[in-house]
Amino acid sequence: MWPVPRPAVSPENAYSSCLQKVKDVTLKENYIEATDSIVQAAERFEQSATEGSLHLLEPKDFQPEKGGLGKHLSITSQDLTKGLYDHRMAKVGSPGRVVYDQIKLAAPHGICPLCGIRQVSTLDHYLPRASFAALSVAPLNLVPACYECNRFKLDGRPSSELESTFHPYFEDTTSTRWLQCQVIEGSPPIVRFFVEATTTEPVPFQERIRHHFTMFRLGELYAHHATTEISSIRSLLRWTLAAGGSPTVQNYLADQARSAQAHDVNSWKGAMYEALAASDWYCAGGFSGTAGGSSTYPMN
Ligand SMILES: [Zn+2]
Repeated sequence: MWPVPRPAVSPENAYSSCLQKVKDVTLKENYIEATDSIVQAAERFEQSATEGSLHLLEPKDFQPEKGGLGKHLSITSQDLTKGLYDHRMAKVGSPGRVVYDQIKLAAPHGICPLCGIRQVSTLDHYLPRASFAALSVAPLNLVPACYECNRFKLDGRPSSELESTFHPYFEDTTSTRWLQCQVIEGSPPIVRFFVEATTTEPVPFQERIRHHFTMFRLGELYAHHATTEISSIRSLLRWTLAAGGSPTVQNYLADQARSAQAHDVNSWKGAMYEALAASDWYCAGGFSGTAGGSSTYPMN
């Protein structure tokens, strides 16, 4: 959802980095024999990603056992998924780890581009290596992600365009507003996040945003953070209400919304503050649990 600069390392360099210090001579020859096929698989991925058609790629075309890499190869899918990615790229101290770290560190501010909140702690295979073995160490198929987003996605692969999550190297959803928030009156007040893209966006875009939002459980994540934020501003809002009435509370909340949205139009904080500012009930004292005048609330 949030863009990340594409890795500078080429598919060939990433692959050859992982092959350093392979002691088994036959295995090394098998890996080297597959180099062209691996590079071509990565190029096919890039072309499909550019065209927005990654969901059309077939797993069998990326598995050496199924002859999908253009010629007979001696390496197996397991040599690529476990042998190469697990042991020679992701493992600390392994020869390809420098490439792994380089890709991981590319996410702006170290924030996971899939949820926009948690810290990056791993790499996610956009197309799962279990099905697309030849893309196991393809840089453009490796996306920095937090542990939770990686876990929620598991080995699922998109079966249609509408089920494709956003690829942070190829797509940018930050230029259009899609995150909305609603205040639910009660004690304590809570908020609910949902997706509502502007109607000028094409329907597939809106559907994909919804799918991404659901798959990575962003509503729960943002609501969790919002609960803490709402609780932390309660005293400040009491003082503000006592000093200037609900219009002053409303102005304060609107300023917070504008500030957060100037940084990121889809920030959960921006959406939350905007919704709070728009709620007369909340601004009139609902933030303390029940609506009422300033006299109801002590200063501490
Ligand atoms: Zn995440």
